[in-house]
Amino acid sequence: MSDCLFCKIVAGTIPAKKAFEDDECLGFFDIHPQAPTHVLVIPKRHVRTVNDLTIEDERLLGHLFLSAARFAKTQGLADSGYRCVVNCNAHGGQTVFHLHVHLLAGRPMTWPPG
Ligand code: AMP
Ligand code: ZN
Repeated sequence: MSDCLFCKIVAGTIPAKKAFEDDECLGFFDIHPQAPTHVLVIPKRHVRTVNDLTIEDERLLGHLFLSAARFAKTQGLADSGYRCVVNCNAHGGQTVFHLHVHLLAGRPMTWPPG
């Protein structure tokens, strides 16, 4: 989608610090990190929100989480743990409308979230 910030990162027209990449997804470091490690895992194909996922996206969603977990393992973050967050629309706190999994790690997280 031409006016989407994360589609522009996928296309390379806006720079980002890449963490990992394959044919279907991209992991890059959040510009305003909320933890020592804060990576956003996105599908390369534009999906607006969790509400817009369809049955055809079931495997893609699994791929995003498996990619996040693989990155956490390679960074030595898996045993201590981490948080994966997907915000949806206004009450969820979504500000960029291209589906993304936040991978937050490197410090203890609190609960409940704000
Ligand atoms: P959300 O509020 O769940 O939609 O998360 C959007 C995230 O994108 C926020 O954590 C922002 O800090 C992050 N973000 C916004 N612009 C950029 C950018 N150009 N590069 C990397 N992360 C970004
Ligand atoms: Zn997009």
